[in-house]
Amino acid sequence: MITLLMFNHLIKTKKMDKSYQSLIKGNQIYAETKLLQDPDYFKNLSVGQKPDYLWIGCSDSRVPANEITNTSSGEIFVHRNIANLVIHTDTNLLSVLEYAVKYIKVKHIIVCGHYGCGGIIAAMSNTHYGFVDNWLRSIKDTYHDNENELIAVADSVARANRLCELSVIEQVRNLAKTNIVQEAWAERDLHLHGWVYGLSDGLIKDLAVIHNQKEDINNIYRFDMMKPLLQTAIANSAQPELSGSAAEDKNH
Ligand code: ZN
Repeated sequence: MITLLMFNHLIKTKKMDKSYQSLIKGNQIYAETKLLQDPDYFKNLSVGQKPDYLWIGCSDSRVPANEITNTSSGEIFVHRNIANLVIHTDTNLLSVLEYAVKYIKVKHIIVCGHYGCGGIIAAMSNTHYGFVDNWLRSIKDTYHDNENELIAVADSVARANRLCELSVIEQVRNLAKTNIVQEAWAERDLHLHGWVYGLSDGLIKDLAVIHNQKEDINNIYRFDMMKPLLQTAIANSAQPELSGSAAEDKNH
């Protein structure tokens, strides 16, 4: 016997199924439309990718990289997380960064934040949300570092928007501090950019924080790429030959 509760659950599940199915239907329309425009579209894409750009953006559903830049599949390598952060211990981001820089050899890395970012607004409050509090911690550090400028902005929305910009600038700096980016700079050109997208007008603002070389960052964050190789060579050449008791010890 079906109770009212079970009946409601069945209706709900059916609705959810329908919503899920609409994505599959949407995909079929997408694939058919692309093939109508270019019968070789997927065949060409399946050969491989060579995008010029790595995009580090927010997970927010309203900031899709390809759509807001009017680009197609294959043009942008994408990494997204809450509030578009570049954390130097984030193995997910570092793996994406290394692959994009070392193997795909992207020419530009774009950190794109957006005004009205929930992650930024949450970090500006004292509300405890859960695990995400830890993820957003570095935004609080950026706030703290720029507190005088931020508290001078009377309007709370404008203050949050300014923190969106300051955070993007900080993330671009964080990229410049990675050994992955500096390794690339030792060999070739690689440009880092900071942008903020406006949800209310659909436009991207370029913050003009361009880093092209390790000299753009404080000395303590610069890596001497030749040093580890030299140190290894010196260590190998200075290796003393084992003789006498030392050699005997080694044999045991
Ligand atoms: Zn966001």
